[in-house]
Amino acid sequence: MTAVPAGSEHPAEVAKSSTPVAHTAADVARLAGSSVSLDHLDARVSVCRACPRLVEWREQVADDKRASYADERYWGRPVPSWGPERARIAVVGLAPAAHGGNRTGRIFTGDRSGDWLFRALHRAGLAAIPTSVRAGDGQRLIDTRIMAGVHCAPPANKPTPAERDACQPWLVRELRLVTPTVKAIVVLGGFAWSTVFPALAAAGHEPPLFGAVDFGHGVEVLLGRAGPTVIGCYHVSQQNTFTGRLTEEMLDAVFARAVSIAHSR
Ligand code: SF4
Repeated sequence: MTAVPAGSEHPAEVAKSSTPVAHTAADVARLAGSSVSLDHLDARVSVCRACPRLVEWREQVADDKRASYADERYWGRPVPSWGPERARIAVVGLAPAAHGGNRTGRIFTGDRSGDWLFRALHRAGLAAIPTSVRAGDGQRLIDTRIMAGVHCAPPANKPTPAERDACQPWLVRELRLVTPTVKAIVVLGGFAWSTVFPALAAAGHEPPLFGAVDFGHGVEVLLGRAGPTVIGCYHVSQQNTFTGRLTEEMLDAVFARAVSIAHSR
């Protein structure tokens, strides 16, 4: 039993068996650029096979499984972004976790990082329930879309620069489609921070009003005079949450700020 096939009955399914598949970075650029809606884009992302190392890894993990999930069928495909059209807040992470999103098919769902993130989103009024266990569990994002710099689970949580670059057109197109309404972009961690600014520039946004800014928790960057505000936030990784580098209060403050910006502009 391997990855879930496109067009399945899986509750996380967004593609059809006829959805075109990207096999190369050039295919990603072409298919991303011609995606006319977020649904269209998400479907194409979810069947992408442009990065051979990541395709092999995600499917191998889906075959091998963690013992505690031995009875589950792993998603084993790229994990698309999630959230309503016309959201005013975006959250950008690094990449799906091998036994989280790569298992459940939904971003930040089924692992400890997701537990932290969704509890905070719920406290901020941005998620319907405080847990995110599996697709079809009743969770719903409110005015918020969760996105990723890279859509496939990478070995050791580290995509290569070539894999990041291959995946960038998906993010660029998504930013073009969401930024008419998105006013605040919460970026989780330094890798996503370094991914978001080039993608925003490629999506046509003006550069930061006060020049380039290093990643930091709570750092805010306004793009141009009318663009979205980008807010840095330590990643909700266990490395940060177990050590106290990121506390619930710190996370709540970031989302409260994002809500305030989104509602004031
Ligand atoms: Fe496609 Fe992105 Fe996954 Fe590479 S990381 S295979 S570009 S979805």
